[in-house]
Amino acid sequence: MTESPVKPILCLDFDGVLHSYTSRWQGPDIIPDEPTPGMVEFLAKAIDAFDVRVYSSRSNHDGGRAAMRAWLRMHVLRHFDCEFHQSSSADLDKVLKILCNIFFAEGKPEAFLTIDDRALCFTGKWPSIESLLAFKPWNKP
Ligand SMILES: [Mg+2]
Repeated sequence: MTESPVKPILCLDFDGVLHSYTSRWQGPDIIPDEPTPGMVEFLAKAIDAFDVRVYSSRSNHDGGRAAMRAWLRMHVLRHFDCEFHQSSSADLDKVLKILCNIFFAEGKPEAFLTIDDRALCFTGKWPSIESLLAFKPWNKP
């Protein structure tokens, strides 16, 4: 079987999707909270099927993309309980595979699909203004 060299782009929002975002906003390069449960397991599978790109309101701020990249590196390493100085480790291979296949876009990607905590899937029928005003993301009761 020949595998297609071009994977569809999966665009991931950051705050409220990768980052649990339970604290208040503290700046584009300050990321205080833990990953959402299952983040690393999801990313490990997603990179096999998709060209995974992270795009956030942080992406357009100085230091925002670097901060997201550093946060992801720290949490993926922590998930597998390993350090970069380990010379050989199956877990380190998994860490590197994830980190080398997650891209932090400067502009909004031309995505096949986007996962965002503050979006509606448009069905062709416009929602009511009232339903939009009543919207609450999953992590804000
Ligand atoms: Mg968000």
